[in-house]
Amino acid sequence: MVKLLYQTDSYLNEFPATVVAVDPEQNAVSLDRSAFYPGGGGQPNDTGVLVVAGKDLAVTKARRDGEQLWHVLDSNATLPECGQHVIGRIDWQRRYALMRTHTALHILCGVVWRDYGAQVTGGAMDPLEGRMDFEFATLRADLVGEIEAKCNAEIAASRDVRVRILPRTEAFQIPDLIRTKINLLPDGIAEIRTVEIVGLDLQADGGTHVANTSDVGHIRVTDYKSKGAINKRLYIAIE
Ligand SMILES: [Zn+2]
Repeated sequence: MVKLLYQTDSYLNEFPATVVAVDPEQNAVSLDRSAFYPGGGGQPNDTGVLVVAGKDLAVTKARRDGEQLWHVLDSNATLPECGQHVIGRIDWQRRYALMRTHTALHILCGVVWRDYGAQVTGGAMDPLEGRMDFEFATLRADLVGEIEAKCNAEIAASRDVRVRILPRTEAFQIPDLIRTKINLLPDGIAEIRTVEIVGLDLQADGGTHVANTSDVGHIRVTDYKSKGAINKRLYIAIE
């Protein structure tokens, strides 16, 4: 089973690893350990390079498939061999932008639940922009500025962001996690990773986050859309 280094250290951007499998068909390499985020929970996958025998091979995509984490190489790259030692280096500019964006979305989610009692139903992000869907019947245009100001107040409050990995039974006793539909996670998952913005938001989450809300920067709510009487979508940009 691949060791997912990003789960315990979001700030790790370079790591040594060993090739455990290659797939010539998709020109991909599976490693024994990796800091590449394979995508999931609305956060896109990392890109970067594998350094093999002193040469940089571009990683255009990373994706998880069961016990393997595949690093898809540029089509011109020659695949390394099983057992070969490599250095992985993720595109830090892209990843750090995604970390800021992902944490910003959790701030939005926390504020909207705390102050308006509206539950999140989905979301998506690209570097420095994202959107979230809520069951938020009372959302009106004049609330948008208020929500934006409240999000930026949480950034100014410099709240720590804590990641923990808990046994399933322990996680299932935390009311905040039950609210976010933790019970929908498959039975086979023995441990639950949680991301907590201390004092604001707690979720079961596999993504990568900044260590403190002050690292997000500034949140701008750029637009909102009604997707029906109850479902509303908010768009944000990170500056
Ligand atoms: Zn998340």
